[in-house]
Amino acid sequence: MPTREPTDPREHASVDRALQLITAGARAGSSCSSSLTEDPWTFDAIPGYGPGASMSDPIPDDAPRQGSLPPEYRKATDEELHGRILAAKAALGERVVVLGHFYQRDEIVQHADFVGDSFQLANAARTRPAAEAIVFCGVHFMAETADIVSAPHQKVILPNLAAGCSMADMAELDAVTDCWEQLEEIFGSATHRDGCAPVIPVTYMNSSAALKAFVGEHGGIVCTSSNADAVLEWAFERGQRVLFFPDQHLGRNTGRARGIPLTQMPLWNPHLPLGGNTREQLLEARILLWHGFCSVHRRFTVDQIDRARAEYPGAHVIVHPECPMEVVDAADSAGSTDFIVKAISAAPPGSVFAIGTEINLVQRLAAEHPEHTIFCLDPVICPCSTMYRIHPGYLAWVLESLVEGDTVNRITVDPDTAEKAGVALERMLSVAPRPIAGSTSGKGN
Ligand code: SF4
Repeated sequence: MPTREPTDPREHASVDRALQLITAGARAGSSCSSSLTEDPWTFDAIPGYGPGASMSDPIPDDAPRQGSLPPEYRKATDEELHGRILAAKAALGERVVVLGHFYQRDEIVQHADFVGDSFQLANAARTRPAAEAIVFCGVHFMAETADIVSAPHQKVILPNLAAGCSMADMAELDAVTDCWEQLEEIFGSATHRDGCAPVIPVTYMNSSAALKAFVGEHGGIVCTSSNADAVLEWAFERGQRVLFFPDQHLGRNTGRARGIPLTQMPLWNPHLPLGGNTREQLLEARILLWHGFCSVHRRFTVDQIDRARAEYPGAHVIVHPECPMEVVDAADSAGSTDFIVKAISAAPPGSVFAIGTEINLVQRLAAEHPEHTIFCLDPVICPCSTMYRIHPGYLAWVLESLVEGDTVNRITVDPDTAEKAGVALERMLSVAPRPIAGSTSGKGN
């Protein structure tokens, strides 16, 4: 493991910059793919998730593909793109709001009006009713959620249509419907004597609108990494067991924190009959965990935690609950991106944090908090490769198109799906309302 020397906070500020320096041999360290310094349009012609953590995950046949970006954007320098984005935003004024996810590259985040997690950002868009265009610099399911919760006159734009999420894609509607039918054969569909349904479906926010609609239609609910425990409590008040998708780790970590033994949380493999379980195992189950995971968060290991503690005795280890259970067990605390941000803000100066979440957020926190020592548990630089596809070239293209009166890359959810998904989201809000994202207005972008 490389020694973590105190570094210039400005060097931490951009993962892209760090990758370029590593590739050029001007900085020590390594990345998970030498292709990370290439522009995303190099990869957009290839079905897949692009360079980085999720590049080897299979992509569904019907995943959106991005058309070719006009050459003027592909050839422009970083400085040119930066200036064009500023000019287009200035021309559009209040007509546009740009949302930047926590995991987005800094070259994009600096142009965002709000920065936050997916649900914070979807809600933040509601605070800008004058904005006729919402440019969501995140991934596909996030743009869908923003379209569901935004006003009818607002158009949601995803700068690169190929910015999907490998975890969300691991639970497809057909596979979940097939699972549901198998569960109905075992448990029936009638409400039990105690008033509980046999199974309550719970989907993580990181899922398609179609799946959110599925849970809305079947008495289920959406959860985030912040409110998964409260959502499970809601579900167990209404059902005998839970089908949790797509992220097995969030489901397992949350279920175990509620005291549910691992034997009662079997994994459902959609490629096997009964999900790879016996009928008896399913009859004992309290939570059925879908076989999904985040390619970024599953990179974190107990060995990384041990090394961080050896190097920095007293370091506080915080990991995201999308990490595997043994990693969450070994950490000092686990929580959502919002939890991590707040924990660091509240710590006394001189604190040391070893963080297990996406590198762009960790590097940004390190830059924003020079009073602390903050580093990523994974010494290899490996950003979320789907977020990474939102290159400034795409942001400049969608904004300048808007200036010219042309809406490109609009994400729409059909009204029936939106209505059913809205039911599942409203149930979540009734359990645990969320604050909106932090505005970056006034940061001089
Ligand atoms: S970090 Fe993981 S869950 Fe989040 S968008 Fe990337 S692949 Fe999906």
